[in-house]
Amino acid sequence: MDLDKLLAISNKCIHSEPPVCVASCPVHMDVIAFMSEIEKGDFKKAYKLMENKIPFARLIGKICDHPCENVCVRKDVGGSINISELEKVVIDLGYIRSKKSFSIPKKKGNVAVIGGGLSGMVTAIDLDKKGYQVTIFEKSNRIGGRIWDYEGEILDKSIIEEELQSIEKKGITINYNTEVFQNDLQEYMDKFDAVYLGTGYWKKNYEIDPNTFQANDLPLFIGGKIHNKSDSIIFSVSSARRAAISIDRYISKSSMGASREREGIYETLLDYKVDDIVSVEPVQKETEAYSEEEAVKEAKRCLKCQCIECIKACSHMQKFDITPDAYIRRINHNERIILGTHYANKMINACTECGLCKEQCPVGIGMQDIIHETRESMVQRGKMPLSTHDFALKDMAFSNSEHFSLVRKQPSKEQSKELFYYPVIAFSQYARGLYKGSGKTGYLFYPGCQLSATHSEYIGDIYKHLVGTIKENDADKDVGLYLGCCGAPADWAGRQDFMQENADKIKRVWEEMDKPTLILACSSCASTFEKYLPMIETVSLWQIFDKYGLPEVDIKKGKRVLNIHDACATRHNPKIHESVRNIVKTLGYKIEELAYTKDKAKCCGYGGLVSYANKAQAEVFVKDRINESNEDMLVYCAMCKDSLVRGNKRTYHILDIIYGKEMNDASLQKIPTLSEKNKNRTKLKMKLLKEIWGEEQDMDLMKHYNFKLNIPDDVMNIMEERYILVSDIEKVIDNARRNNERFFNPDTYNYLARLKFENVTYWVRYEEKENEIYVNSVYSHRMEVVEE
Ligand code: SF4
Ligand code: SF4
Ligand code: SF4
Repeated sequence: MDLDKLLAISNKCIHSEPPVCVASCPVHMDVIAFMSEIEKGDFKKAYKLMENKIPFARLIGKICDHPCENVCVRKDVGGSINISELEKVVIDLGYIRSKKSFSIPKKKGNVAVIGGGLSGMVTAIDLDKKGYQVTIFEKSNRIGGRIWDYEGEILDKSIIEEELQSIEKKGITINYNTEVFQNDLQEYMDKFDAVYLGTGYWKKNYEIDPNTFQANDLPLFIGGKIHNKSDSIIFSVSSARRAAISIDRYISKSSMGASREREGIYETLLDYKVDDIVSVEPVQKETEAYSEEEAVKEAKRCLKCQCIECIKACSHMQKFDITPDAYIRRINHNERIILGTHYANKMINACTECGLCKEQCPVGIGMQDIIHETRESMVQRGKMPLSTHDFALKDMAFSNSEHFSLVRKQPSKEQSKELFYYPVIAFSQYARGLYKGSGKTGYLFYPGCQLSATHSEYIGDIYKHLVGTIKENDADKDVGLYLGCCGAPADWAGRQDFMQENADKIKRVWEEMDKPTLILACSSCASTFEKYLPMIETVSLWQIFDKYGLPEVDIKKGKRVLNIHDACATRHNPKIHESVRNIVKTLGYKIEELAYTKDKAKCCGYGGLVSYANKAQAEVFVKDRINESNEDMLVYCAMCKDSLVRGNKRTYHILDIIYGKEMNDASLQKIPTLSEKNKNRTKLKMKLLKEIWGEEQDMDLMKHYNFKLNIPDDVMNIMEERYILVSDIEKVIDNARRNNERFFNPDTYNYLARLKFENVTYWVRYEEKENEIYVNSVYSHRMEVVEE
């Protein structure tokens, strides 16, 4: 993805946006970190955090008027966090005497601070830290101003004195009993590089810049009560700090106004929602101050408000333990590597492109957009390892080959006369003569390659039902059949070339058929059609069932309550969600919605081909989804069922409950192996051709070799792991036997054979016993074996 675009997305993310308490704290105490340290019981670290932001933390921390508390989002769910009380206890338990710091040479200039009150002291120490020689002019015989008002119960005299002495220890000069009058000001401005006025009221009104505190473009900066009409201690401290920044910029001749929008109190972009937060009352103090235990408990009430909406919902982001801006940075870095290892590839291929993050994100950032473009650009630049999505693409090619692909119009009137004598006559609509097509294909049933691979037993019945039900409701419209793959694997793999080619092919078929409405039974097909073939009108099979009625079958009702797992590909298709729920209710089940449902559905782990590129990550997705559910799951996507059943979750496909399959078996139905899936597809095509169109077709895949193959379960598991098909093994052995291209090991009586096709070399070690082959091990790789 283009760098500017990536940065623009990253800048939009509000993950680092502060909570409202921090934005409303004039000195921006890091409240979240502060609370976290208290929670851990580390009061020293918590104190350090105070010291980082609050000057004279031991004093100000005890007398701050805490505007942060008024805005705390906990306010409506139990009560604001007692930040001020926590600061007090942290001072008592966590104060550490600062190590003697080495003072830096004061070369940057001389500043006069008039008034040794709170405001003057803060400006003085800040300027001292920045390298200025500071002189305070105080009219009385002590500094500290209104801090002394708190002496006694709130502030210990010895602590006030200790803190104030630290000013002189730093090398700041204090001229006591020195009153500066208005008439003297010019003289001070001439003598010093800048003057800060932090005293009480003066007669003359200056025009003070509200952001820089500079008066009338003079080397004069005004804080204290002259400027701050409020009595807020912390506001006065913040103004003094800001004035010190202005003085520094003024003397060093840098921009007075640049990047200062977030000084003082500002509005944060974070709008932290508390709708789902449980109300918890503030912890009450047993004595004057919180005890250590009470403080920990109170800090725990803090919600640590931060936008982590996407991370909260996505097991991929959690697994990579990454914030969105770091995620984007890593992708950017990965994209820019020319030579060397692309460490982020794994991460890029572990996103299911489900789009949940975008639904969660208050500013609409979706990782899937970034991931998708990145995969495409990696493919284009040859940076995507071939093996990553190879099998999925091979699977797609299979589904679009003669082994499965099929386009047929509904049998015509003439044909249907003949068909009348086929055994398929048993189904009721056909018997009523509804099967006779008009010749105009109004609908084209597109079951998709995955449903046809895992639930092929339903496809014929669905087609027949559709023909009947549409005939009843829309007499002129025939229903054709289209078997194939929509191209979703190519899209997920970033293979735009394959994707476009596939979409063009589907479009041509659709035009050839006179632009019928496609009836889709697969959620991925639905979103792929919407994205690449928006000109084609589609409707989901579930909507047709809901609208025109369900097939009349003997329904065996199972468990009464179901959790519906919506397919993530349908998140923007409320019609599908609604029709599925209507069907489930019609069949007498109760629905218990999951926390993440409909437009917020979580992915089962199949999306984005993650199960091919990063199995471990796919398993995390499944587990996460299963953990959300207490009931049996209902799905309407073949791949969702595949994933959930693999995770040992009792799961029904909606067709299982529609067709009243033996519910217990259906819920844990063994998933066909990759080889079985291909066989199922091919058998389905042959069966439909024969039963409905009266055509016989023999397929290569069904070809019988002159040997019988025995593959033990452990070898079959390895084949599944490595995406090796039985048909691949058959080819290797057939070649070895016919051309004698094999090695024989007389010690073990094993043959070793290899054959390379489609860029992959397959190795098989086997034994022969008469005409039976026993496969002992298999292996595949992409390396070239060069013959000497
Ligand atoms: S809950 Fe915590 S982080 Fe959130 S506003 Fe309140 S104090 Fe700040
Ligand atoms: S897996 Fe889904 S929720 Fe997670 S980053 Fe990718 S698109 Fe977003
Ligand atoms: S949801 Fe995620 S990407 Fe969106 S603003 Fe929040 S942290 Fe950033």
